[in-house]
Amino acid sequence: VSPGVGPGAALAAGPGALAGAPAMVRAEGVCKSFGHLQVLQGIDLEVRRGEVAVLLGPSGSGKSTFLRCINHLEKIDAGRLAVDGEPVGYVERDGRLHELREKEVAARRTEIGMVFQRFNLFAHQTALENVVEAPIQVKRTPRKVAEHRARQLLDRVGLADKATSYPSQLSGGQQQRVAIARALAMDPKLMLFDEPTSALDPELVGEVLDVMRDLAGDGMTMVVVTHEIGFAREVADLVAFMDGGVVVETGSPQEVLGSPRHERTRSFLSKVL
Ligand code: ADP
Ligand code: MG
Repeated sequence: VSPGVGPGAALAAGPGALAGAPAMVRAEGVCKSFGHLQVLQGIDLEVRRGEVAVLLGPSGSGKSTFLRCINHLEKIDAGRLAVDGEPVGYVERDGRLHELREKEVAARRTEIGMVFQRFNLFAHQTALENVVEAPIQVKRTPRKVAEHRARQLLDRVGLADKATSYPSQLSGGQQQRVAIARALAMDPKLMLFDEPTSALDPELVGEVLDVMRDLAGDGMTMVVVTHEIGFAREVADLVAFMDGGVVVETGSPQEVLGSPRHERTRSFLSKVL
């Protein structure tokens, strides 16, 4: 596996106020196959620090796979992928890329928070215990400090009164907000969301999107896969439409949602709008 030079397509330049900020995620020609199935066929995307990027695209277009590559859960086959200037899975030394050891990969992963479609909380732990687990186990944060911070985070997601509740006692929207608090407890520099509201009853979607909107307002860098077009329009700095393992087009929400350049984007939007 050599992360060589990608197809060299022009990088998508994110619009807006953060132009010029350093890249938090930079993908150039990222390819990934599973057996004979080439799922990512040269992804080009740049998300700057402090930006919110929304990834749209039909089922099977490679959105989850791309997030998993960013989060070290899949290895890319070709192209370049860097988070905060560091090549994913590698360290650059003496002008060469050296593969990271498992422990180093684990350390890098602690800097990225991920929230999935299914709230995968630990069922046998309270909300508070879910949130303190990683800081205590991974970062060796003293329990008192971790609990204090966890209470702040639960308060931030509107669940101060649910600290001692078990996941089964919480609604889907509340569980997903605990999952967000849990990811934030590691002080990530980047948050990835993979269809965080798709498994929720419609009346619970808003409370999760509200928390995400707050987080964006606080300057968190976020890559969000969602079909919530309203959220994209309101919160995203950058919208990327993916199809067939490539980013078909990127731009501001106004550009991509308001006047898409590609027929594939138009056709997709006509189905979800
Ligand atoms: P999306 O999130 O856009 O729906 P995915 O990234 O989940 O798309 O999947 C893209 C394609 O890759 C699908 O055809 C899926 O079946 C396939 N795929 C994803 N993960 C694996 C895997 N671990 N092994 C084999 N095929 C996979
Ligand atoms: Mg997916």
